[in-house]
Amino acid sequence: MSKECTLCDQGKCQPTFVYVVGNRDGTGSVKVGISVSASKRLAQHRKKTRRDLVVHWKKLLSCEFAAFDAEQAICDQLDYCRDQGDWFFRPVGDVVLIAEKACK
Ligand SMILES: [Zn+2]
Repeated sequence: MSKECTLCDQGKCQPTFVYVVGNRDGTGSVKVGISVSASKRLAQHRKKTRRDLVVHWKKLLSCEFAAFDAEQAICDQLDYCRDQGDWFFRPVGDVVLIAEKACK
């Protein structure tokens, strides 16, 4: 039996990363997302965009629903500078600060 989740009422939750991905040199747009494996997801983004992407920040939350809520909160705050999808035109340091606050 898995432990009951204290963050949602779903009962069985998967630990899930909230992550911030962007160009290695900090230029260009920045992606906010969630994934069970931040490194696997990074590899997928690299294939799709052909950019030299790195994970600038990640945090493992114990609940996928909590991670989803955090991602939504981050994306809502960045909505005004949305590029496409969950990519945003903001300095990566700013996005990381927003992400840290949303994942406390
Ligand atoms: Zn949960």
